[in-house]
Amino acid sequence: MKNILLVILLSTSPVLAKADLNILACEPEWAALAEEIGGKLVKASSATNALQDPHYIQARPSLISKVRRADLVVCSGAQLEIGWLPLLLRKGNNPEVMPGMPGFLEASMFVKRLDVSTNADRSQGDVHPQGNPHIQTNPHNILLVAGAMAERMQQLDKDNAQVYAQGMAAFRKRWTDAIADWETRATQLRGKRVIAHHKSWIYLEDWLGLVELATLEPISGIPPTASHLASLLRQFGDKDAADFIIRAPFQSEKPSHWLSERSGIPAVELPLSVGGSKQAKDLFSWFDDILNRLLSAGS
Ligand SMILES: [Zn+2]
Repeated sequence: MKNILLVILLSTSPVLAKADLNILACEPEWAALAEEIGGKLVKASSATNALQDPHYIQARPSLISKVRRADLVVCSGAQLEIGWLPLLLRKGNNPEVMPGMPGFLEASMFVKRLDVSTNADRSQGDVHPQGNPHIQTNPHNILLVAGAMAERMQQLDKDNAQVYAQGMAAFRKRWTDAIADWETRATQLRGKRVIAHHKSWIYLEDWLGLVELATLEPISGIPPTASHLASLLRQFGDKDAADFIIRAPFQSEKPSHWLSERSGIPAVELPLSVGGSKQAKDLFSWFDDILNRLLSAGS
């Protein structure tokens, strides 16, 4: 009787597909990338969402248990997560995903970091002491990280190495085609002048040939002050003085609106990652949306 019951149970219960790799990303773009490469073989989640500032989140208990279960932790690095990741890793106490282990991938190690200063003076609050960590806004960087991530997946889940290699090849083809399309569409943005809330966009600027004139933050990580905004208004008080004032959705809109209203320079909110706008549903639509927003503000 027991055997019959068991047979019935087995034949009626749905087959539970178990992901082979549990991936915890620090930022949503890396979780999205893991899914592009690994498909059904990975279960990816992100510690931050695109409406949060990745410099500053709390190491919540739910995140600690995700670290404990993770096979691979993927973060931008370059000290972007210095305020919360070390604590999270310590509390998660999973030796496989500690920095230096195959289960930890620091994305910014695989790209050319910009704004690397040999003499970083942090006394004034610079939050980018190892160069700028916001590497994800250049799609060529995404491809470099994808290659490193695919290799790591093959190393950690050898049985499925072939599938990750195929996933990577398919992604590379689609992404390379998309980059060519974006670069064609963005030709008219070359040379446009930007005032950015935070130095979140220098890789985008580098990619598209935008020129950053100033930031609303007086120093990276220090919120805009009245005196700094007043000085920006003296410098850029005319609508021809710059083309865009850009910010991410989690940054206060007040400083950019203040300057925009007085100067006439359009203020533009850009998604800094997947999920940062209604349109940015995946890696592809995220870059589509960045370009759409810049092109419509600049025309
Ligand atoms: Zn930053």
